[in-house]
Amino acid sequence: MNIHEHQAKALLKEYGAPVAEGVAIFSADEAEAAAKSLPGPLYVVKSQIHAGGRGKGKFTELGPDAKGGVRLAKSVDEVVANVKEMLGNTLVTKQTGPAGKQVNRLYIEDGADIESELYLSILVDRETGRVAFVASTEGGMDIEAVAEETPEKIHTIVIDPDTGVTDADIVKLSDAFGLSGEARVDGGTLFPILYNAFVEKDMSLLEINPLIVMTDGHLRVLDAKVSFDGNAMFRHPDIAELRDLSEEDEKEIEASKWDLAYVALDGNIGCMVNGAGLAMSTMDIIKLYGEEPANFLDVGGGATAEKVTAAFKIITADPAVKGILVNIFGGIMRCDVIAEGVLKAVKEVGLEVPLVVRLEGTRVAEGQKMINESGLNVISANDLDDAAQKIVAAIKGA
Ligand code: ADP
Ligand code: MG
Repeated sequence: MNIHEHQAKALLKEYGAPVAEGVAIFSADEAEAAAKSLPGPLYVVKSQIHAGGRGKGKFTELGPDAKGGVRLAKSVDEVVANVKEMLGNTLVTKQTGPAGKQVNRLYIEDGADIESELYLSILVDRETGRVAFVASTEGGMDIEAVAEETPEKIHTIVIDPDTGVTDADIVKLSDAFGLSGEARVDGGTLFPILYNAFVEKDMSLLEINPLIVMTDGHLRVLDAKVSFDGNAMFRHPDIAELRDLSEEDEKEIEASKWDLAYVALDGNIGCMVNGAGLAMSTMDIIKLYGEEPANFLDVGGGATAEKVTAAFKIITADPAVKGILVNIFGGIMRCDVIAEGVLKAVKEVGLEVPLVVRLEGTRVAEGQKMINESGLNVISANDLDDAAQKIVAAIKGA
């Protein structure tokens, strides 16, 4: 689960991290009061969307010459003018995809006098199975490009879970960032704070790009992106409340209500599969035969007919779906339950695209019989390969 920059900053502020003053607003009438509550004379108006690269982003409605999604303002009036221009428009950044994201809230923040911009992130390092800091002096820009062109400028400092951030880790981090003076002292407090926030709040990513050294020599968190481990959300009801559904795919929201592992994709073959591994291989084989999956969907082991119905409805509601492939290996999941769910869903929403069903395993004969006797125009398949070829052929013929 992701949250907005202003929420991430409020959370880090509670832990004692140096964060500027700021106010989140949802409508233009709030702009003046928000700006007046800040010290000035420099303000920043920041688009709050769940995507990075906002500074260099472009508003679809404003044309190529308009300023980006993060704007400096030198007076309260300038803040208000920028808010009026930005709010409600669509921001396209490197991370949003070409459709962009509508900007429904802005964060008005105190402007900082920047000496230098650094890159800091904390993540779970798969190689060591530990939490690690990633540190670079090349902040404020695209870290993927830095990793590609100058990998020697990226330092990974792995933290031992028994000790947390040690003095030796702080030295390594401070050296990686090239910190001196006040900034080095600030780092000594900041790094353990960030690590503790990461661990206590079950974050999966904490990215501060940039962490800045200000002209007064101190450190400040200037941008903050936080993702949480969805499986740990039950431990953090306060954080779950920060979820912004307008940032999420509607189909994924519906799927999460039914506890379905669903990810929307760009292709046109809807897939209903049980087991993440089988779902992955189903997607692979669709690609092998020249088409693209419209989604990843794992209905799980003990799915009920109701859950299967919900899953099928989510797939058919996607206008990009030109064909559906149901691929079930019944182990714990019974094939007749799948058949019941599919038939129920088709009865409720109809079936306007070709449907290929491949069932195997527990109660396969019962499941196949139900589908065969349903009078539906279902193409049945014997195995994974056969199923993929049949659905690809069916949508090409359509
Ligand atoms: P994004 O990464 O989405 O582009 P950032 O929050 O990193 O958004 O902002 C982009 C750039 O805008 C920063 O690298 C920094 O140069 C500038 N900026 C952001 N916030 C402030 C601020 N409070 N004061 C001064 N400059 C800022
Ligand atoms: Mg940034």
